[in-house]
Amino acid sequence: MIVVLKPQASKEEIEKIVLRLKNDGMDVQVNTGVECTVLGVLGDTVHYDSATLELNANVDKVMRVSEPFKKANRKFHPNDTVISVGNAKIGGNKIAVFAGPCSVESEEQIVSVAQDVKNAGASILRGGAFKPRTSPYSFQGMEFEGLELLMEAREKTGLPIISEIMSPKHVEIFDKEVDIIQVGARNMQNFDLLKELGKTKKPILLKRGLSSTIEEWLMSAEYIMAGGNENVMLCERGIRTFETYTRNTLDLSAIPAVKKLSHLPIIVDPSHATGLRWMVLPLAMSAVAAGADGIMIEVHNDPEHAKCDGAQSVTPSMFKEIMEKLSPVAKACGREI
Ligand code: PEP
Ligand code: MN
Repeated sequence: MIVVLKPQASKEEIEKIVLRLKNDGMDVQVNTGVECTVLGVLGDTVHYDSATLELNANVDKVMRVSEPFKKANRKFHPNDTVISVGNAKIGGNKIAVFAGPCSVESEEQIVSVAQDVKNAGASILRGGAFKPRTSPYSFQGMEFEGLELLMEAREKTGLPIISEIMSPKHVEIFDKEVDIIQVGARNMQNFDLLKELGKTKKPILLKRGLSSTIEEWLMSAEYIMAGGNENVMLCERGIRTFETYTRNTLDLSAIPAVKKLSHLPIIVDPSHATGLRWMVLPLAMSAVAAGADGIMIEVHNDPEHAKCDGAQSVTPSMFKEIMEKLSPVAKACGREI
């Protein structure tokens, strides 16, 4: 952290500030310039509330030089994190493909989609049971019955399952029943939920909030990791911008940015990013080319009659074609799918 003092700060005032920092456990280096004095402050600045220093009349500004996240930070963990889920590895050379319907609607639907996506090469089956809908009048999901059906589809196909959690009250049951717990965009900053998930060892897929910065997103990952659960993967699913042509705007630049800042795997969800199924293929290809560790795609056996997100859902045959077209892109990037 760097503290720039005002030119009029007297020697005594500077000494007082240095003493305050030292009393707070910091190492301080005093650099006296021609115009002003600059303090180099080293120590546990992550836990230090630097903003209050700026209240001092002799302080011009305080600048942080290190990121506020530690456990998620690549600086302290240079190697990529690889998370094992059943036979799948997320974050390694193989690109993980999460596929399935937005929501579980019936036994027939989830089992048939599960079999189709498995045959096409998906590694994880997705299916929402508790749905975060904008309108209280929209389908809210099959809830616990949906989780049961998802487990049945796992039993029949051997695919690990992922489903979205909405309440801290459900952590125990999700921990027992699913293989990966999804935290949706709307709950990215539900800190009580993140803290509860930090107490488990379950792999967590943390979606980026609708209007969250990359740093806020990594700080949410830090909440889970600080609690003791380091099995976190991030999911870019589009952010709010002024553009209305697509449902959200897929932030492809988040992929290399997250890779530089963090060691956690990054998954890209082109379905929720665009809301348009014809954009899923080009954006999935772009995400793989930009270095994503996985792709999440909504697949429905009858998109026209889907209870949720039909417009962005691809059919099983479209999904198969997407998988075939992603393969050479992955190969060109030195990866497999
Ligand atoms: C979902 O994956 O079904 C979902 C609701 O996603 P998001 O939280 O990204 O909107
Ligand atoms: Mn959806």
